[in-house]
Amino acid sequence: MCTFKAFCTPRARAQEEDFIADFRLNFEMYFGALTLLVLSPYVIIHLWQKHFTMAAATIFIVLLSSCNSLSIYRRGIQTLPLTYFFLLLLSTLVAGLFTQGPNVIFWCYPFAFIILSIVDHRQARMMLGFSLLVFIPAAFYALETSIAASFLASYLLVCLFGDIVVNLVDQSQKQQAHLATTDPLTGAYNRRTFLPRLDEAAESCRRGIGTASLIAIDIDYFKKINDSLGHLTGDEALKGLVHTLLGRKRKLDTIFRTGGEEFFVLAHNIEPGESLAFADGLRMTVQEADILPGQRITISIGVASYREGQSVDAWIHQADTNLYEAKRRGRNRVWPPYVKEPSEPPAKLVQSVTG
Ligand code: GH3
Ligand code: MG
Ligand code: MG
Repeated sequence: MCTFKAFCTPRARAQEEDFIADFRLNFEMYFGALTLLVLSPYVIIHLWQKHFTMAAATIFIVLLSSCNSLSIYRRGIQTLPLTYFFLLLLSTLVAGLFTQGPNVIFWCYPFAFIILSIVDHRQARMMLGFSLLVFIPAAFYALETSIAASFLASYLLVCLFGDIVVNLVDQSQKQQAHLATTDPLTGAYNRRTFLPRLDEAAESCRRGIGTASLIAIDIDYFKKINDSLGHLTGDEALKGLVHTLLGRKRKLDTIFRTGGEEFFVLAHNIEPGESLAFADGLRMTVQEADILPGQRITISIGVASYREGQSVDAWIHQADTNLYEAKRRGRNRVWPPYVKEPSEPPAKLVQSVTG
């Protein structure tokens, strides 16, 4: 779960959801393989018993799910339309209740488990609710009242308990995704997330979808803070710095902690001149912020706007080189330097010049 609310951008949520989607895709792959193994003999049994509709439905289920498994295994792509597949399974079960009676009840529980495992949680809830609405009249019509009542009560129990389990699994997956992508001390994105995000940004720039600037940040004389005030206070300074940067960044910008006290801000849709002004704004905000009481903390910044044809490595290297230059030139500065546009001359002066 996104513990640091400030970081819970749509992108962060998408990443957490990606983890869960991967998890479900794995389930779907195993499900197809198991279906082939477990249901294939039933095709023969149905044919033997001359239940041709059931045999056809079973063949269809086996074919659909095993082709889907193969596609996930080979290409990582799901080909099964889950809503139609759900309807196919449900109608097969209902038809089975009418033609085969209580025996089919045993297949309704794995059905609920499969839906909860492979379909997105919210959608799975709706599907199972719908299945219950369909099973109620079907069971009372096709089965003895006492059997129908027991079946529906136990089916409801399986659905509710399954829903709780899936909810817990989803939450723990989200938590793992959050831990895997963020730095536990500051909550900023970690090094692992840095390169993929940069790749995405560079790709967007190459396609002409936008512009991007990389802002490398390093705290000035941080060793002194650690040496004089202790490592724990140093940690507080790191947290405070990220908090301060978060307050100043624009909505879609992302902050990464890539090393001890080294950070990067990835700014999207920003022109080169604008990115220098933005970086200087960050620098001034940090200088004026009360990150550690009684201590003045400053940062040096290197800015590199993405240039066409540039590799991601070269882009990072450019930002690092510029950061090094900012340090070399005395720290607490942005390199290349931000030069303010000359402000408009006062109206009176314009008048006197133009006559
Ligand atoms: P400069 O102005 O040249 O950057 O000087 P500096 O003292 O900041 O030098 P440098 O950037 O090399 O300092 C890195 C220091 O950051 C060294 C290490 O003690 C400290 N550091 C790295 N990770 C952590 C951390 O997680 N917590 C704390 N408190 N300190 C850290
Ligand atoms: Mg430093
Ligand atoms: Mg450093």
